[in-house]
Amino acid sequence: MLVLKFGGTSVANAQNIKLVLDIVQKKSKEDTLAVVVSAFSGVTDLLLDASKKAAQKDKAYRDIISQIDQKHKAAIEELIPLSEQSDLIENINSNINLLKTLLDGCFLLGELSNRTADIVASFGELLSSQIIAVALKQKINAVFKDSRELIKTNSDFGKANVDTETTNHLIANYFKENKAQVVLLPGFIASDEAGNTTTLGRGGSDYTAAIIANATHATALEIWTDVNGMFTANPKIVKQAQPIETISYQEAMELSHFGAKVLYPPTIQPVLDSNIPIWIKNTFEPDAFGTYISNENQAGNNPIKGISHIDKIALITLEGSGMIGVAGSSKRLFEVLSNHSINVIFITQASSEHSICIGILNQDAENAKKAIDKTFELEIAQSKIEPCIVEKDLCIVALVGENMKNHQGISGKMFSTLGKNNVNIRAIAQGASERNISVVINEKDVKKALNTLHERFFEDNTKQLNLFVMGIGNVGEKFIDQIHQQKKFLKENLKINVRVIALANSRKMLFDEDGINLNDWKAKVDNGEKASVNDFISKVKELNLRNSIFVDITANYDVAMIYEQFLRMNVGVVTCNKIACSSHYENYKKLKELSRKYNAPFLFETNVGAGLPIIDTLKNLVASGDKVNKIQAVLSGSLNFIFNNFSETYSFHDVVKQAGVEGYTEPDPKIDLSGVDVARKILILIRESGVSMEMEDIENNCFLPEECMNTTNNDDFFKSLLKNESHFNQLLAEAKEKDSRIKFVAQYDNGKASVGLQFIPKESPFYNLEGKDNIVQFFTERYVDQPLLIKGAGAGAAVTASGIFADVIRIGNV
Ligand code: ADP
Ligand code: ASP
Ligand code: MG
Repeated sequence: MLVLKFGGTSVANAQNIKLVLDIVQKKSKEDTLAVVVSAFSGVTDLLLDASKKAAQKDKAYRDIISQIDQKHKAAIEELIPLSEQSDLIENINSNINLLKTLLDGCFLLGELSNRTADIVASFGELLSSQIIAVALKQKINAVFKDSRELIKTNSDFGKANVDTETTNHLIANYFKENKAQVVLLPGFIASDEAGNTTTLGRGGSDYTAAIIANATHATALEIWTDVNGMFTANPKIVKQAQPIETISYQEAMELSHFGAKVLYPPTIQPVLDSNIPIWIKNTFEPDAFGTYISNENQAGNNPIKGISHIDKIALITLEGSGMIGVAGSSKRLFEVLSNHSINVIFITQASSEHSICIGILNQDAENAKKAIDKTFELEIAQSKIEPCIVEKDLCIVALVGENMKNHQGISGKMFSTLGKNNVNIRAIAQGASERNISVVINEKDVKKALNTLHERFFEDNTKQLNLFVMGIGNVGEKFIDQIHQQKKFLKENLKINVRVIALANSRKMLFDEDGINLNDWKAKVDNGEKASVNDFISKVKELNLRNSIFVDITANYDVAMIYEQFLRMNVGVVTCNKIACSSHYENYKKLKELSRKYNAPFLFETNVGAGLPIIDTLKNLVASGDKVNKIQAVLSGSLNFIFNNFSETYSFHDVVKQAGVEGYTEPDPKIDLSGVDVARKILILIRESGVSMEMEDIENNCFLPEECMNTTNNDDFFKSLLKNESHFNQLLAEAKEKDSRIKFVAQYDNGKASVGLQFIPKESPFYNLEGKDNIVQFFTERYVDQPLLIKGAGAGAAVTASGIFADVIRIGNV
């Protein structure tokens, strides 16, 4: 015989029930069947809600009853031929009337006992099983059997304990006599010795099926549900989760105990005793393999089978010197919890015995505290033990795998993965069986924790990067295009999965937790919500995604000032905006320290030389113990362009205008021409060399006449350039006379820095610098005579975008 169980979603409505009937019909050709069904999806919740409302004198329970009635009648209408409906409808009506009478009673008395709650809850399975039984009889030789006549329990209403001996006997006898090919039974419900209806606990239909499988020595137990098996993590939270093909009873038990709702934890024990395999199958995809649970040898070499979690957990800590070496403290603690029917899910004790920490459900926390403090009243009064501390809204995350015991370093990997993502671990427990490592974390971090752990242990080391991009002008647009183009390559070759979660400019912002489709991002941003820096920050915080990176592609002061908040949230910052790194040294230093403290990368390669690997090279020099003595550099693509093109026939004014048109200058060209931009760049290089310096310490030998410097807008500035033509022409003449070229050079030498024009002779490597190229020479302790030289295009949207991209990839490769 085979035992099949169909869960709530599988029997949610007539359409789904038809799928169930097909599966049952097909299976019945192979073997005799016991088919256990749950209540229609959501009905148990509705029933319990109605009973609570009735007891609180809220008349809304009546609407809930009508809702339940209609749900079932609708299914009957679609499933059962009209001629066969009347008996069934009569049956359903009498059940609904009984339910109404019971709840009216609760309403009148303003009271709901556990016993009554169980009777009320039983209607879910009673109604569904009766309807499905009739539908099934239309197709095959099937009978209905009320499980309450077979499964006997004690009278712990709500979650009764099964009297295994009597139950096995009753079931075995019934099936011995049974002649039908299929027996259909309601799950979840049972009865006590006196014949009162009891229930097996929420999700208990799985257990009903396991009890029947055990008592009948079934060949297999099949749990039919709405997913393709037991997954490596809850598929609703971890999108990348995969079904586990084979798993041991013990592993499945650990996963389900730690929250994998797909299987009700007590289900495994009865079938484990009689070594009956369990299949988890999907009603909506019956051909999918599913999960096979048995004690057979397990394939695969991943020591971790799955990750599960339980939310709404509270930690209770009892501590004090009075516990050290005093026998019986733990016994008293657990006894009092047991006396109050409080289930302990998690335990750790420090080896000093100074404190003991237990995890229980949030809902039990107040009762537990009261009871524990009462039990240790005397010790608390004598200050030997502290009143117990309760922390709520936590969550347990467990890694499960039989093979973990044969592998070292798994807990290390688990903790470092969580640590890197700034997930604070509140408590840790590892069972002696080493089948399970559990940690307690804050509930707000659970999604991030599950996804990072899953990525670390199951996803072939693919790392997902979540980008929040601010600034989508010239460079931003190029950056997004590059990501779009390279996405597939990065995933396949570098195992980096880049997703753009947010795009914003000064007017609009757009968020998509699953990643913005970059095909038509511009239109989507235009239709996005109104931009606000504060809302942007809140949203990043709220989403709390792993490996989050804020990408600043603006030149905005206010945006540069929010990096601190991101770094503190463990969100990395990649920026081409020079303002933060060239602000006060204290601020620069603070950002670097926050980056280290919160494990959030802070990268700004494009601050100097656009995409050229200048800062990265410098970092490597310094990290490997080299010391920078001198830097000489041409760092302004715009000034280079201007002085390369400035000639007797091409006036200074016209060249500057042209540089603006070609996008080589800042919107305000004075920032380039005054030398401020270059001073910022050399300052950043000096700081990255390990020297503390401020902007004011850099000597700026400005070549602009005062009149030009004093202008306050672009128009006046250009006018002043025209007016001072002779000044610029004089520079040109001087260069010619010295047979040299004019370059704007930034210099650092033994603690002193300056920027300004220089006449560069032919022999200098700077002489032949073309177009918008940049060049940097590092003279260090290792590069003494021949400097380390980096040269190439140092301005332009595409190269800047690729520099930003390279920083993002650097984070992906860590
Ligand atoms: P049924 O109504 O069929 O009994 P349940 O809702 O009780 O179904 O259990 C199935 C659900 O369990 C899935 O839809 C899924 O959301 C959830 N679930 C949680 N963890 C896991 C996991 N590790 N593998 C599969 N499903 C899981
Ligand atoms: N209907 C019950 C519940 O919702 C039992 C089950 O579905 O397994 O808890
Ligand atoms: Mg279930």
